[in-house]
Amino acid sequence: MTAHQTTAKDDMYQQEIEVVRNKLTEFLEENNQRKTPERYAILEEIYKIDEHFDIDFLYKLFKEKQFRVSKATLYNTLELLLDAGLVRKHQFGKVQAFYEKSYFNKNHDHIIMLDDFQIIEFCDPRIDQIKKDFEDAMDIEIDSHSLYLYARKKKK
Ligand SMILES: [Zn+2]
Repeated sequence: MTAHQTTAKDDMYQQEIEVVRNKLTEFLEENNQRKTPERYAILEEIYKIDEHFDIDFLYKLFKEKQFRVSKATLYNTLELLLDAGLVRKHQFGKVQAFYEKSYFNKNHDHIIMLDDFQIIEFCDPRIDQIKKDFEDAMDIEIDSHSLYLYARKKKK
């Protein structure tokens, strides 16, 4: 990657950060919550991550950066960002929850490979069509949906 490309990518990241920071400010003000620097720092780190992550991953990340933050704070902040619509939460396996940034992400669904717990993202417009059909047929408005496919590799 050339230096120029890196700069362009950084600029885009900075613009995205501006937008989500403002979103968080709006949310905190509306809900009479404190605008702590910690909350903004956690938001910024999350928006640098391009994959699904759990609390342990985030905790290690902050520890490596010598940024002191407890797991409880991370958990509480993630719940807050969830309410603010800035992250999505997934229960891929049986134990811990996974998260991902959500503000600029296109709506997508997930296939969980049970052989190795690899997560595959997919986006299929037919799902939107099914939702539209249901809305019309049942006179409802679908707010959101949750779809997980649990799969194994086909045996040869
Ligand atoms: Zn995803």
